[in-house]
Amino acid sequence: MTRITFDLQATDGSARTGVISTARGEIRTPAFMPVGTAATVKAMLPESVAATGADILLGNTYHLMLRPTAERIDRLGGLHRFMNWHKPILTDSGGFQVMSLADLRKLTERGVTFRSHVDGSKHELTPERSMEIQRLLGSDIVMAFDECPALPAPRERIEESMRLSMRWAARSREAFGDRPGHALFGIQQGGLEPDLRAESGKALTEIGFDGYAIGGLAVGEGQEAMFACLDHAPASLPVDRPRYLMGVGKPDDIVGAVKRGVDMMDCVLPSRSGRTGQAWTRRGQVNLKNARHADDPRPLDAACTCPTCRGYSRAYLHHVFRAGEMISGMLLTWHNLHYYQALMAGMREAIAEGRFAAFESAFHAARAEGDIERV
Ligand SMILES: [Zn+2]
Repeated sequence: MTRITFDLQATDGSARTGVISTARGEIRTPAFMPVGTAATVKAMLPESVAATGADILLGNTYHLMLRPTAERIDRLGGLHRFMNWHKPILTDSGGFQVMSLADLRKLTERGVTFRSHVDGSKHELTPERSMEIQRLLGSDIVMAFDECPALPAPRERIEESMRLSMRWAARSREAFGDRPGHALFGIQQGGLEPDLRAESGKALTEIGFDGYAIGGLAVGEGQEAMFACLDHAPASLPVDRPRYLMGVGKPDDIVGAVKRGVDMMDCVLPSRSGRTGQAWTRRGQVNLKNARHADDPRPLDAACTCPTCRGYSRAYLHHVFRAGEMISGMLLTWHNLHYYQALMAGMREAIAEGRFAAFESAFHAARAEGDIERV
């Protein structure tokens, strides 16, 4: 099997566009990865997710190890076959979600023990076990096991945590071994401290990974602080490897991250907000619960080419949400994922043509107009 490669094709300022080639297909960057937490992108068939333009999706190690378990997925032929998604899959390491979801966590040099939020059963995650689970799942891009403190935190806590994550990164690299066709990404930590970010980037580069994530952001620090960190954090990571910003974000977070040199992102936002009556369009956020849509025969966005906008009115979307019909989450999730992928495609094209600054201005100008006038 071939190695995963990254072909950086064009840059515009710090923004980059390229292609990650894997045995399961190409990932065009900047890439947005929809989140398929429990082996499904909620409310979407896998072929519908592909139709929105997604080249890769994200699966969550923490959820899958608890239910239905990595061993069962392996017996059933791996995660791709299990969920009927045959393009690349990236899995997280489980570390972040143990911290945010599990009960009775105990952190040691060896790893983390915790109780499942599903049934209270006791589990352990270590760098070695995380690599084993992600191998059993058949993940194309595997993430190193790390620890991520919630911000704000005292500098000493961030420093200790980052150094532990770097020791775990070395153990992850060792346990991953040599697996042609599969990539291992290291995760930079260090909070908002420039010197700690640089130390972490250097440590990871010395270990050597196929790609590098910028971890520990989008955990409550706010957009301004995140962008300030992204102004320096990528500088200590190798230029010729993909950079993945974990857990981001809103459309304006994504545009700002791409501007600062990020190649990959993931977020539950487009799918989660689709299930709560929220849509994202070129002109910002639209709340379909609002009574102003009840008699509106127009689509969410007349310029959008997704099936929701081609076939359904705002009045219908308002009605099915209010009536609690399942199609509400399906239609809004489809539109939201389509919008996110169209945004990525627009940025890739703009970077390739050297007009990212103009793209960014137009993006903000459309949002500043706000939603279309009520009927
Ligand atoms: Zn649409």
